[in-house]
Amino acid sequence: MQKKLVILDRDGVVNHDSDAFIKSPDEWIPIPGSLEAIARLNQAGYRVVIASNQSGIGRGLFDMATLNEIHEKMHRNLAALGGRVDAIFFCPHTPTDHCDCRKPKPGLLAQIIRRFEIDAASTPVVGDSLRDLQAGAALGFSCHLVLTGKGQQTLDAGHLPAGTTVYADLHAFALDFLAAEAN
Ligand SMILES: [Mg+2]
Ligand SMILES: [Zn+2]
Repeated sequence: MQKKLVILDRDGVVNHDSDAFIKSPDEWIPIPGSLEAIARLNQAGYRVVIASNQSGIGRGLFDMATLNEIHEKMHRNLAALGGRVDAIFFCPHTPTDHCDCRKPKPGLLAQIIRRFEIDAASTPVVGDSLRDLQAGAALGFSCHLVLTGKGQQTLDAGHLPAGTTVYADLHAFALDFLAAEAN
């Protein structure tokens, strides 16, 4: 039985992104339909996990307690809709740390493969930035771009990994993904 898992970037996919970083629960605002999309995936038997660069930690813009509070807000908002995120994998480092988990490096996604024992080829990665897709493509995940957040900018810049599919937003992705699965 294939493990059913969907991997999402956070900022620009689940919640509105900000060039000034999401530094507090108040700044974490869901994109319309995104939490409903996660709930629908859950109802169809998919676990949903997040893989997110959070260099604001390494830059000293917010601390772990605040990141936890932001994620508590996300969990509460999701729970109200019957949805759930099973795990949040994040990279706290800055580019100058040269870690192996900051996307486009595939370290976060490699952690998810190990933790959930999934097959990358049958697991979708959804992101709004090229680096989300590059991290996914490096490990053979199926890659999906949403046009929320930096998505339109990413599409316009080109160089998407081969086979990347494009959706207006996470809700459109979920509907299409689940419809394709039903066939
Ligand atoms: Mg993003
Ligand atoms: Zn890292």
